[in-house]
Amino acid sequence: MIIQKSATPRIATFDPQNFSFGDTFTDHMIICEYENGKWGDVKLIPYGPLPFTPAMMGLNYGQACFEGMKAYKDDEGEVFLFRPEKNFERINKSASRLAMPEVTEEMFLGGLKALVDMDREWIPQGVGTSLYIRPLIFATEEVLKARISNKYMFAIVATPAKSYYTEPVSVLISDFYSRAASGGVGSAKAAGNYAASFYPTQLANQQGYEQVIWTDDSTHEYFEESGTMNVFVRINDTIYTPPTSEKILDGVTRDSFIHLAKRRGIEVRIEPVSVKKVIEAQKDGSLKEVWGVGTAVVTSVFRALGYKGEKLELPTLPLEESFALSLQQDLVNIQNNKSEDPFGWRMKVGKEVLQDA
Ligand SMILES: *Cc1c(COP(=O)(O)O)cnc(C)c1O
Repeated sequence: MIIQKSATPRIATFDPQNFSFGDTFTDHMIICEYENGKWGDVKLIPYGPLPFTPAMMGLNYGQACFEGMKAYKDDEGEVFLFRPEKNFERINKSASRLAMPEVTEEMFLGGLKALVDMDREWIPQGVGTSLYIRPLIFATEEVLKARISNKYMFAIVATPAKSYYTEPVSVLISDFYSRAASGGVGSAKAAGNYAASFYPTQLANQQGYEQVIWTDDSTHEYFEESGTMNVFVRINDTIYTPPTSEKILDGVTRDSFIHLAKRRGIEVRIEPVSVKKVIEAQKDGSLKEVWGVGTAVVTSVFRALGYKGEKLELPTLPLEESFALSLQQDLVNIQNNKSEDPFGWRMKVGKEVLQDA
């Protein structure tokens, strides 16, 4: 790895009590370029802009994918990644689906560890806070031909994240728009999937809903995901989540919730969840909770579901009665090294003395 430390670090001006998530970047970033059929050297360099032309293929044809993950700092100041091998596997699945070259373990895990170690002072301490990490791959070839690019960049940037706590939200069950199509790229973290979701989300916002529950593209009768999160439904004391597919992204948080629920002895059913079943359960009072899960906020609890002009209210349960919040707490405790790690999910980031090139 080629290392070039920032000559003008901004860490001294960073106030962990007062910053804005998503637009405050740490002092460094990882980059690695692909051409002539292979990846070059991994570089850890000062964070900042890179020169590109509007003719870059990634911008024109959307050949771009990314990951979202976090690093956590415990009370002693030790730093941990959470199941980073899952994100490594997934970015390569996304890359393959978009006809992009896969990245190596050295680039992905090696790059992550080096960046997080170098910028460890940027990781806020305290439950719920973390460092949000964004690895991405995009096509950089300067050519306007609709074909597979021959040049790419892999990069990793990081931004401090605040407490995950969010208020319960209202969500609109989509009966027209879909996020993913059969045979499409829904299971890849393709940049374009997000672009396609913004307009329907904006329409939902105008109707007073924070998010959209995406339903299947052919019948709109089955739940798929909620916003950019996987979805769970609790009817009586059983929780349901749809199986992953080419339309439903295989979330690390979803998988972790399934393990944690089973550990608590909760019955988990991975099966298609019909809108009809959820609405009937809401009407007869057996629908206890509906929530979304993802790395960014861990859990987003829903307080109402909108469907065909009707707003169906959901109870908001206290922590002791809520599966969503109890499982969230189990997960956060593991991530922050506040509890045992029964599944071996934490990966400690050692302190290395990094030398300038
Ligand atoms: C990233 C993402 C998720 C959540 O995945 P996590 O690994 O849990 O963060 C769910 N759905 C979509 C569409 C996503 O892009």
